Amino acid sequence: MKTDIEISQNSELLPIGKIASKLGLTDQQIEPYGHYKAKVTLPFNSQTDKGKLILVTSINPTAAGEGKTTMAVGLSDALSELNHKTAIALREPSLGPVMGMKGGATGGGYSQVIPMEDINLHFTGDFHALTEAHDTLSALIDNHIHHGNQLNIDPRQITWKRVLDINDRELRHTVIGLGGRTSGVPREDGFDITVASELMAILCLSRDIKDLKQRISKILIGYTYDRKPVTVADLKVEGALTLLLKDAIKPNLVQTIEHTPAYIHGGPFANIAHGCNSIIATNAGLNTADYTVTESGFGSDLGGEKFMDIVTPRLGKNPDVVVVVATIRALKLNGGANKDDLSTEDLAALAKGAPNLGRHIQAMSRYGKPVIVAINDFTSDTDAEIAQLRKYVADNFNIPAITCYEWAQGGKGATELAQAVVKAADNTDQFHPLYQDDESIEAKINKIVTEIYGGDGIELSNKAQKQLKQIVKHGWDKLPVCMAKTQYSLTDDASIHGAPEHFKIHIREFQVKLGAGFIVALTGNVLTMPGLPSHPAALDMDVKDNGEITGLF
Ligand code: ADP
Ligand code: MG
Repeated sequence: MKTDIEISQNSELLPIGKIASKLGLTDQQIEPYGHYKAKVTLPFNSQTDKGKLILVTSINPTAAGEGKTTMAVGLSDALSELNHKTAIALREPSLGPVMGMKGGATGGGYSQVIPMEDINLHFTGDFHALTEAHDTLSALIDNHIHHGNQLNIDPRQITWKRVLDINDRELRHTVIGLGGRTSGVPREDGFDITVASELMAILCLSRDIKDLKQRISKILIGYTYDRKPVTVADLKVEGALTLLLKDAIKPNLVQTIEHTPAYIHGGPFANIAHGCNSIIATNAGLNTADYTVTESGFGSDLGGEKFMDIVTPRLGKNPDVVVVVATIRALKLNGGANKDDLSTEDLAALAKGAPNLGRHIQAMSRYGKPVIVAINDFTSDTDAEIAQLRKYVADNFNIPAITCYEWAQGGKGATELAQAVVKAADNTDQFHPLYQDDESIEAKINKIVTEIYGGDGIELSNKAQKQLKQIVKHGWDKLPVCMAKTQYSLTDDASIHGAPEHFKIHIREFQVKLGAGFIVALTGNVLTMPGLPSHPAALDMDVKDNGEITGLF
C-alpha cells in the first residue's frame, strides 16, 4: 500500500474550473489560487432549495483519529458515483497537529482531498490571515494602554491572549512589555493555538462580511479598572480586523481524488473550540449540491454535540442523517486494550469497548434524526471482530451498521453506506434541540453532561462560580455553551475510557466569547495551547531538491 502522500501525488487533478462547473459555479463565481484551488465568491445566503445535509461524527478516538475525514470523503465519492450531485464541507488543517502528532486532515488512502500538500501546509493563507488579525488586535490593545489608556483598561484583566498556529507549550504563559518606558507596559500574557482563537470561531459562524464585522465588534477583550467590559467596538478597530479577513471569509474549493467538489474552510479544534467548518462553506454546499457531507471534530460528545447545539441554529438547517464512524481498534482501546496491541484480534476488549459506541449512538439519536454506524475497516480487523460489532449494534439499536472500505477502495468501498444514507435522508423526523437559549448556563451544561456524556452532573471550581456570577450579571447567560474537554474520554479525565457511569464534569473556568456568541466551559486540565510529542511528525518530513515533499500524512 502506498502512503497517503504518494497516493495523493499520483492522483489526477482536474482544473479547478471543471470542479466548480460540476456545482454550477461559473468562472465569475470563483477566484482561482493556482490551477487546483479557488476561493468561491460570496454570498451564499439563499435559504431555498437546500440540499440534504449529512453529518459525520465518531466514537471517542485513538490519538491517530478514527477516519472521519476519510469516511466523509469516501461517502461523498460514493454519492457522486451513484450520480447524486454531491459536495463535501471540511475544516482546514492546523499546522500544530500537522507538525506534531496527529498529522493533517485531508483523509487517507484512496479517500482524500487533494492537493494534500497544499491543503495541509499554507493552503490559501486563511490561518495566517486569522493569526495576523488576532495578533493585530493584541498589538492595538497594548498600544492603547501605552499611549495613555483612555479606556482605563486594567492590564491585569485582559482576556484577549495572542495566538500562533504552532504547538508551542513554552508560550502558554508569558510576560510582555519588558524593556522600559519605550517598550510598552509590562503585563502577564500567553498564547493559544490559532484554531482556538475567537476569530476562528467567528469566521466559522458568520454568514457574510456584515455579520463578521458585527461579531468582531462585540469581542470582549478585557475589563476596566472598575470592572466594566471592554470590547473591540470600544477600541474602534472592527473595520481593520474585518479587512484583514476579507479573503479568508471566502470558502475554498478543491477536489477529492475522485473529483467530488470539496469546500474546505475554517478549522476550530473540537476539544477546545466548536470544531466545525464554516457555516459559509456548509451553506455553499447546501446551495450548490443535492447532498453535502460535513465532518465535526473528534467524537460526537465534542464536535457532534457542538454541531447540533451551536452550528445548526446559525446555519438554519439540521442534519438529515448522522453517520457515526467507529473503528475496531478504537473500541478495543476503549475496552482496555493496550494502545500498542490494537492490531491483534481481541474479542474481549472489543466487547468491553463496544458500549462506547452505544453512548455515541444514543447521544446522536436524542436529536431525533436517523443515525447510521459506519465501521471503518482496517486491514488488521478480523472477520470475527467485525461480526461481533455488527451484532452488538443489531442487538441493542435498531439502526444500520455498515462496514466501509473507503480507505482501501475510494468511493466504491462506501457504496452500501451511500445507499443507506440516501434512503435515511428522505425523512421528516423532528429535530429536538438539547437546550433553549433562555436556560441557565448550569442547566445547559448539565444537559450536555447527562444526556450526551452519560454523567451525573457538574462541579464548579471557586473561580468558575465567581465567573458565572459575573456572566449572569452582564446578561451573557443566554448564550450557548462550548465545552472544552478531552477528546479521549466521555469524562474530563483522558485516561477513563469506554462508557463510564456516575461521574461529574469539573468546570475549572469560563471564557466569555461574545463575538462567537458562546461561553466556553474549560473542564479538567484541557489546554488551549498544545505541546509537541517526543517524536513530532516534523522529524520525518523533507522536501527534495526537485520540490517533492515527503513525510506529510
Ligand atoms: P479523523 O478525521 O477521525 O481524525 P482521519 O480520516 O484524518 O481521521 O484519519 C486518521 C488517519 O488514519 C489518517 O492518517 C488516515 O490515513 C488513517 N486511516 C483512516 N482510515 C483508515 C483505514 N481504514 N485503514 C488504515 N488507515 C486509515
Ligand atoms: Mg478529521
